[in-house]
Formats: sequence, structure tokens, C-alpha cells
Amino acid sequence: MDRRLSILIVDDCEDDAVLEAAALTRSGLKVDCQRVEDERSFLQALQRLPDVVLCDHALPSFSGKRALQLLNERGSDIPLIVVSGTLDTADAIGLMRAGARDVVPKQGLALLAPMIQRELAGTETRRAQQRDAAALRQLQRAVESTDDCVATVNRSGVLLYANPAWTARFGTAVDGRKPEDGCAGFPPAVYRAVIASQFERCTDGESVRFEFCHAEIAGHTMNCVMTPILDSGRRTTGVAIVARDVSERRRAEQRLEVLATADPLTGLPNRHTFRNALERALETGRAGGVQAAVLLIDLDKFKEINDSLGHAAGDEALVALAQRMRVALGTDALLARLGGDEFAVLIEGAGVRAMATAAAASIAAALHEPIVCVGRPYHLSASIGIAIAPNDADNAAEMMRKADLAMYAAKRGGSGAERYSPKLSRHLEQRLQLVHDLRAALAQGQFHLRFQPLVDLARGETVGAEALLRWQHPELGDVAPARFIPVAEESGLIVPIGAWVLDAACRQAREWRDQGQPAFTMSVNVAAVQLHQRDFVAVVRAALDAHGLPGTALELEITEGALVENDRTTLETLGALRALGVKIAVDDFGTGWSSLSYLSRLPIDRLKVDRSFISGLPKDPKSAAITRAVLTMAQGLGLETVAEGIEHADQLEFLRAAGCQVGQGFLFSRPLDPAAFAAQLVRRAAA
Ligand code: C2E
Ligand code: MG
Ligand code: MG
Repeated sequence: MDRRLSILIVDDCEDDAVLEAAALTRSGLKVDCQRVEDERSFLQALQRLPDVVLCDHALPSFSGKRALQLLNERGSDIPLIVVSGTLDTADAIGLMRAGARDVVPKQGLALLAPMIQRELAGTETRRAQQRDAAALRQLQRAVESTDDCVATVNRSGVLLYANPAWTARFGTAVDGRKPEDGCAGFPPAVYRAVIASQFERCTDGESVRFEFCHAEIAGHTMNCVMTPILDSGRRTTGVAIVARDVSERRRAEQRLEVLATADPLTGLPNRHTFRNALERALETGRAGGVQAAVLLIDLDKFKEINDSLGHAAGDEALVALAQRMRVALGTDALLARLGGDEFAVLIEGAGVRAMATAAAASIAAALHEPIVCVGRPYHLSASIGIAIAPNDADNAAEMMRKADLAMYAAKRGGSGAERYSPKLSRHLEQRLQLVHDLRAALAQGQFHLRFQPLVDLARGETVGAEALLRWQHPELGDVAPARFIPVAEESGLIVPIGAWVLDAACRQAREWRDQGQPAFTMSVNVAAVQLHQRDFVAVVRAALDAHGLPGTALELEITEGALVENDRTTLETLGALRALGVKIAVDDFGTGWSSLSYLSRLPIDRLKVDRSFISGLPKDPKSAAITRAVLTMAQGLGLETVAEGIEHADQLEFLRAAGCQVGQGFLFSRPLDPAAFAAQLVRRAAA
């Protein structure tokens, strides 16, 4: 033994202690000896945990028996060897019974060293065993309290151990062994269905991991690991099984999967899923030369439902529409919701071109029936863009972009459905260029106004001027309003441009008044986007104030569509304008799609009957009938009427006879620059 041993010698005789130490050193042990001779110093010395106690059996104030008692009381496993000169056999037996490890006569000290070595080895083993037992107890506690199901079985599948979780989940326990035992601790049905083959692999020495789910265990999903238990010869003696309930995790994964692939509102595949399906379709298409079609569907005017009825009603409508389209398309097409009121359809296979056209027609038909929202029927339609691979594009992003372009064209053209063509791309590029140029136009002063007189039909005098916007493009020259106004509206640029028009028109009105011209009304066209701006009334007031004009000097021309949109805010805005004295005219009357009820609801002063009715006068009986009806209705409602686009004297005659008060058109004058307009005023006054 290499290590220095610490020896506690209990003896009242110093010489004996020295002899004992010497005997040990002689035998080759390295020792540190300490001698005590009473109980107090013995207990103190014990605290230093000596390796061995050598104890005389009888001392004046202490004894070997007492020392053993003290060691036992403290649960100490330090070996005590009695070293005594005078000890009879009975005493020796008594001491051995009390726990002494051995007894050595003082005359036989040579025995002491081997005895100590034996004892120390024994103590070491005992301590290791104790450690093992403690670890085992801890392991057992852990296995018993875990939620994982743990069992061991022998190679025949007989259950040897099952923790409480196992028993609770599988209903099998070691004591409640059933006649069918041999099922590795599983219910027989489960064993036969899913465990048997895995168990066989495991008894062949392989670790196996698998997942299973069975009605017998209430459909729980278990993740199971089976590990062979090997003996020293590496033969499989049994199998350790750990099964964990992963049902909750799998359910959560499934929920996430659904969330990631489906639109939560309609349950349709979402944009991501659609995109993946499209990519797969294009891939197989490339391999097999098969075509694929994408239909991009955007609901028209859906925003109106959302804005007027709220998002809950909007959602309800979307769910109903999605369902209708689903049914209409059948199972051959993949319908997805891309977001908002945008849907997409994917069609694959031979003859997709015809199938795409048919699908577009089915969707239009499905939307034909009005949808009932909060008890009111709404007529909805959709604009559909179609792109076909590989003709139009060969990758998913391009397919979507081209279908989008086609959809955009369908929306603008009001055609319902449109197939992509390269022409559309060019058209869009031109539009983008136009938006860019319009932005610059405002900054660079490329806009100016022309004024067209409004003439009192009975008296022939000019009673107003309509301000009409003109754009002098540096390269394109004069760009017609019909070309750039819609672009300005869509891009929102009409808001700053419209504010400029209001200001410029008011400035001109001020100038004419300052020149002493009669105080007629200035009419300014207002786009829907402008009217629905929160600060629109303030913009109007600012233009009037800037040029010191009363509200009565101004009339705003608003199209029917803009008036019926967003009913409540429109009513408020018109009310505020009316309070300023500003007049409201309905422009292009008769071309809108709405009911006429807004005429009695909104504060309106004039109707401008659209040129399309006037141009048929007086010969076309339908135009004549409509014009008469409009004039009669306007009279009934107390509204003044203006006829737009009077070009011929017989039109004027008809309108005058039918009671139309005011007219406008090339017959009187084309739109003029301010100087020409003023000259015209003078001429007309003189006539
Ligand atoms: P609108 O408000 O209906 O304006 C009347 C249009 O009819 C003007 O076309 C005018 O030149 C044209 N017109 C007038 N009399 C006759 C006629 O006898 N025969 C024919 N064939 N046409 C006649 P313009 O100036 O090209 O304006 C077209 C449209 O552009 C306007 O229709 C209006 O909707 C819009 N617009 C013009 N200026 C503005 C503006 O400042 N703001 C907004 N938002 N829109 C404007
Ligand atoms: Mg107008
Ligand atoms: Mg008009």
C-alpha cells in the first residue's frame, strides 16, 4: 500500500503505541499514528477520519467496547482492531460481536499489518457497494417517477419490470401477468400489430426506434426505443423498452403544418402552398411537356363590402365565395386564397388552355348569384388573369407576374377574364412610364387649364366655366385627359394634381372677377380618390381663401360612381362643402351603375346629362326618351340640368324644348385658354 495510513491508537501506554507503530513500519506500511486514551480525545480524533483504529480493550477511563459503541452510534465504518495483552477468549468473542474486526495479542504485532491491509480492502469494497446501492435507488426513483413508459422484458417477451407510467398506459404490470404474456409488456393486439417485428429485430441484437399509434391505447402516438440487454458474452438476454407519448407534440406539429399551408379563414391552400404546387407542376411539365395554367382572381368592388359592412361581414362573404368557387371548379383544379380578396387556380394536364377558359367561366357563373351580407344582397364579380406555361412563362414567379398583368388588364377593361399577351407587358411599361412622367409634370409646371363655357339655354349667356386639365408632355406633346386622368387616379397622383387644379381654377376665377367679368360659377372636376381624402374640404376651403372667393363661386363635378361609394363619409363631406356654399354637380349622369336613391339622399345641385345621350338627339328615340325622363326626374327633385356635348343646333332645339336649363358643347365653344374665354364672354354678351 503506497498511501500513508492514518492510524488511531487507543492505549494508555505510550510505549505500546510506539511498539505498534514500529511493527507497522517494519512491515512496510507508511503510517501516521495518533494515540488517545479517553473518550473525549477519541471522539475528537475520529473527526479526522482515521483509516483504522487500534484499540486496547481495557483502559483506566475507556474501553474497546465503549469505542465500538461510539463508532456504531455514528454509523462509522472505520475498522477497529483490538490489540490487547490480557484478553480471554470470552472477552474476545464479545468484542467481535460488538463489531471489532479482529483481535491481536500485543505479543503478535507482526500480524497487525496484513490484518489492516485486509480490513482496508474490505472497507473499500463495502463503500463501493454502498455507493452502487445508492445510485441504484436513485435510478429506480427516477424510472418510477418519469412520464416515459419504461419496461424490461426477457428474450421471450415476458415482462420483468414495468414502471408505473408503463402500467398506466398499457395496462400491463409484472404481478398482473396475463396468460398471453410474451407480448413484451404490450397489450396483445398492439403487440401483434406493431411491436412483434420490431421486438424480433431487437432480440437479434439491433437497437430499434419507431413510432406507433393504436386504437387499443386510445389512439395515442408513442415513440418507442427498444435496446437489447446483453450479457458478458454479448448475447441478448432481454430488451429494455422506453416508450414516450408524443401525441401532443404531433398534434401541435399538425396544427402548425395546417397553419403553414392553409389559409385560416377559408381553409383553402395558402399562397405558399399554391406556389409550391405551381413549382411542382412546372417541373413535371418540363419533364413531360405538359402545360399548366394559372388563373389569378381578384374580386371587384369587394372593398365596398369591407368598408361599409365591416371586416366580419367581409370575412363571411369571402368564406361563402371561396366555397362557391371550390364547388364550381371541382376537383381537377387547385384553388388557393393568396390573401385579401385574391384567389388563384392551378390547372395541369393536356388541354389546359380550354380548361382555363372553362374555369374562368365557372368562376364567373359561381359569382353571378348575389351574395347576401348582413341581410342585403351584393352583386360581385371577379377579374381573372390567365397565364399558361410554358408559352407565357416557364417559372413560378413569371407565371404569377404574367397572370397578375392579365388580371390587371381584365380589371381595367372590365372584361371579366383576360389571357396574358406580350402586348399587356408593353402596355404596363408605358403606364409605369406615364406615372413617372406625371409625377414630374406637377413639379415642372407642365399642366395648364382650358375653360369651356356653360351656357344658359334660354338666354344664351355664359353662366359658368368648366376647368379642364391639359398636360403638355415634353416629348409626347398634348396628352388627352382620358389617357392620363385614369392613371393619375390609380396611382393616387390625382390628389396633388387635383389640388393644383382647384387652386389654378380659383386663381383664374379671381382674375376674371378682377377684370370686371360677370361673377359666373367655376366648375372643377373631382375624382373619387380626392373626394374620399380626409382633408378634402380643407383643401377646397384653402383654394377659395387663397384667392378671396366665396364658396358660391365654385362647383364641383363628381361622377356617380364616386358619390355612391362610401355613402356615410360622402354625405358628411358634401354636407361640409354645402355649408361653404359650394355647389355639387353629378358629372356624366346616366353612365353610372347605381340606383338613383342617392339623388334624394345627398345634397346635390345639378345633373350633367352625359354626352352619350345627347349625341343621339334628336333622332334616336331611346336617347330622346332617356333624356326626357332624366330632365323630368331632375325637375321633380328640384335639380338643375346641364346637357354635355351639344354639337348641333337640333340637339340644342330638342333640349331647350324639353326644359333643359344649361348646355355645354362644341356648338357654343371648345375648351379655351383664359384670354380666348374672356373674348368669348364679350362676344356672347354682345350677341
Ligand atoms: P368631363 O368632365 O365630362 O368633361 C367634358 C369633356 O367633354 C371634356 O373633355 C370636353 O372637352 C369634352 N367636350 C365638351 N363638349 C364637347 C362636345 O361638344 N363634343 C365632344 N366630343 N366633347 C366635348 P376633356 O377635356 O378631354 O376631359 C375628359 C375628362 O377628363 C373630363 O370629362 C373629366 O372627367 C376628366 N377631367 C378633365 N379635367 C379634369 C380634372 O381637372 N380633374 C379630374 N379629376 N378630371 C378631369
Ligand atoms: Mg366634368
Ligand atoms: Mg362629363
